[in-house]
This record gives sequence, C-alpha cells and structure tokens, in this order.
Amino acid sequence: MEQVPYKYIESAPIKPTDEDPFESMMARFDVAAKILELKPGVYQYLKTPQRQIIVAVPIQMDDGQIEVFEGYRVIHNDVRGPSKGGIRYSPDVTLSEMKALAAWMTWKCAVVNIPFGGAKGGVRCDPKKLTKIELEKITRRYTANLLEVFGPERDVPAPDVNTNEQVMGWIMDTYSMHVRHTTTAVVTGKPIFLGGSQGRVEATGRGVVITTSAMMEKMGLKPSATRVAIQGFGNVGSIAGQEFLAMGCKVVAISDVTGGYYNAGGIDIADAIAYRNRNGGNLEGYTGGDAIKNDELLELDCEVLAPCALEDQITRHNANRIKAKIIAEGANGPTNAKADQILAERGIAVIPDILCNAGGVTVSYFEWVQDRIGYFWSREEVFTRLTRILTEAMNDVTATAEKYKVNMRIGAYIIAIDRVAKTLELRGIYG
Ligand code: NAD
Repeated sequence: MEQVPYKYIESAPIKPTDEDPFESMMARFDVAAKILELKPGVYQYLKTPQRQIIVAVPIQMDDGQIEVFEGYRVIHNDVRGPSKGGIRYSPDVTLSEMKALAAWMTWKCAVVNIPFGGAKGGVRCDPKKLTKIELEKITRRYTANLLEVFGPERDVPAPDVNTNEQVMGWIMDTYSMHVRHTTTAVVTGKPIFLGGSQGRVEATGRGVVITTSAMMEKMGLKPSATRVAIQGFGNVGSIAGQEFLAMGCKVVAISDVTGGYYNAGGIDIADAIAYRNRNGGNLEGYTGGDAIKNDELLELDCEVLAPCALEDQITRHNANRIKAKIIAEGANGPTNAKADQILAERGIAVIPDILCNAGGVTVSYFEWVQDRIGYFWSREEVFTRLTRILTEAMNDVTATAEKYKVNMRIGAYIIAIDRVAKTLELRGIYG
C-alpha cells in the first residue's frame, strides 16, 4: 500500500475569531472547575500561564535586508513534567492564542496521563512568502533566543500549523550546537532518521479507532454490524479508515475538501488512499462510491461518525439530524458547545477530541522517552503501549463522566484538571 504523507501536528481547536481565544478556552475550563469545586487559589493558579515570552527574531532576508519577526512561547503549566506543545508559523499568531493553546495542551496531556505540562509557541510570519533559507534562519534564531526555555527536561516543542519535521530537525540541530552535544529529545515530530518514533504517522488515526472500539464494546456494537462515515481523508481520516476496516467495520462513506463518496457495500480504503496519492492529494473524481455532499455525510445512517477534518462541523443546525450512535472526534473541535447539548439529550456518545485524537501526543511522548534512553522500539511495541494508554484513558474518562453524570467531554476536562490540581497539591506551592 502507498504510504500516507508523514504528518503529525499538535494543533488545537481554536481558530482566530472575534472572541478572545483564551477567554473561550476558560469558559470550558470553568464548567469542569465548578464541578470539581476547585479552591479559588488553585483555580487562579491553573488559569495563569507560568511564563509568557516574546522574542524578537531578526534575520537577514535573501535580498540582504534585515527583517524582524515576533516570536512567542507560552508555558502554561509544568507541574506534571516538562511542558509540551507545538510551534506554529502564521501571520495570525497572537499571544492570547498561544495562551489558550498552551492551556489546552496541559489538559490534553493530563487526560492521557503522560508526564507533560502544556506549552505553545509561534512566530508571526507568512511562510508562503518566505524562502526555505529564510524559514531556516527564523527557526534557528527563534530557537537560539529561547535556549534557556527549551530542553528535554524543561520544554519540548513539536510541529503545529505550517511547521514540519524539517523545522523540528533545525530546532534540534540549533539547540544541540549551543549545548555542545546532540540532544534529540529537545523536540518531537522529527524524522525517524533524526530520532523520530516508529508509528508516529499512524498514531492519531489509530488512537481514534482504539478509543472508538472501546466505546463500541461498551455499547455492545459488533464491528461486523458497524458502519462508519469519515469526514476528512488526510492523515487522521485515512489512517482511521484503514484501522476501522482492519477491525472488521464497514466504512460506508469518506470525504475531503472536494466532496464525499458513499458506498453501502463499503469503500475500499487502500484503493481510495492510492487514488488520493496519485490525484494531487485529494479524492476529486473518485469512482469507488456515489458522490455525496459533505453535509450529507454527517447525517448518514451509520453507527460511527468520525469527523477528521475541521472545527465546527456539528452544530445546533445539524445535531438533531445526526444518526450515528458514536461520534469519534478525530479532528480538533469538530463539535461546538450548543451541539454538545443536543447530542447529549439524544443519547449520542461523543468521544471528545482531547481524548479521541490524543494518540498523536502519546506517541510524541514515546519519541521523547526513546530519545532519552537512546533505545528505539519496534512499531509493535509502540502500538501495544499506545493501546494501553488510550484504553486506560478511555476507562478513566468514562468512569468520571458516569460519576459526575456529565458527558464525556466534561468528564475529560474534570479528570485533566483534577490530575493537575492534585499534583500541585502534593508538590505544594514554593512561595
Ligand atoms: P490533513 O490536512 O492531512 O487532512 C485534512 C483533511 O480534511 C483533508 O482530506 C481535507 O481535504 C479535508 N477537508 C478540509 N476541508 C474539508 C471540508 N470542508 N469537508 C470535508 N473534508 C475537508 O490534516 P490531519 O492531520 O488529518 O488533521 C485533521 C484534523 O485532525 C485537524 O483538526 C487536526 O488539528 C486534527 N489532529 C491531527 C493530528 C495529527 O496527528 N495529524 C493530531 C491531533 C489532531
């Protein structure tokens, strides 16, 4: 089978809007904090990012002129371990967005119980207008300016919007040059050649299927009687499709930005991936199913709906028409808050993004572990450990949701905030 492109990003479900991103993150945090009856001091502590750094990133452009970019790194919290979070390059990057995304990483790592805190960084630039040499210079100068912030024991970046494994390689090299020894564990999302992990490409899609299969078991849904519709056929959606098929489910519909395809007999996922790969990365013109609209895909008669494309796909406008019994959020933020309420009333189980797509960050953790011990695991070992971590996280979230009589999303936030708060309590406040 043809390989899917190498891709892993630690992005989060917050897009630039009129709303302040940090405030909108806090609105969700508040629901869980209230249920947990957090003490006001702890609430204040968990709300406040530990460090917010702004650096000037001056570089000499290819035409000889000097240009100064602005770079950010926000460490939201590191009580559970080194902070972890992506670096994005975009003209929209703001400090408020970094704060929101950094906090989101704290909760995501805590849900799957990996020993990381949360961080996020970025450089305000437009990569489309930069040459590869300029991008490398920005990356190296940004890294050099944050030398005391980054480090395997302190803060570990990863790819995010518009950054990739090459950018991670430059960060690793710059950091290593300064500390005078090769330090692969300073970033994750590196090429396998530079200390990346086996199984990283598949990690997020696999995680979607591991968590969904746990939910199917709980609901008594047999794979052979399970029809799956997948929105988005990129890294996450196509790998999830392969895995659903491998476990015996039928994938009846797939879609991408060019449209959807329905086949009641089941889509041949290997064939669809091969088609996409030779068709410029999209499914336009695919003949393995009848063409349908993207909206129709979401409302198909099926047992599992896996939105693996964008934010805000399931809203109060279509939540009443969703027929699936399980929604597996491969994408970040595909369901908005109003829809959550409608889906809960209708008894549809939503596996929240913070858990459902956490396979990626979990294998990032494995990459960091392997780099630090200098011994690399087989794909099988990676997947066995991934399955264990996600299955435990699924059980924890389900039990918490049942205990507090809330949906799984709030259950996931409760468990994450509680873990960070308990660690803080045990460590105590220095000051
Ligand atoms: P990708 O770019 O590889 O794929 C995105 C897919 O969505 C493409 O097939 C694209 O055509 C499709 N798409 C775009 N607009 C669409 C629309 N209107 N309708 C239907 N399909 C549409 O991205 P990805 O890495 O697969 O990420 C998908 C989602 O998963 C994003 O929300 C991302 O933040 C999240 N996520 C990804 C990872 C990861 O490891 N890649 C990890 C966690 C979360």
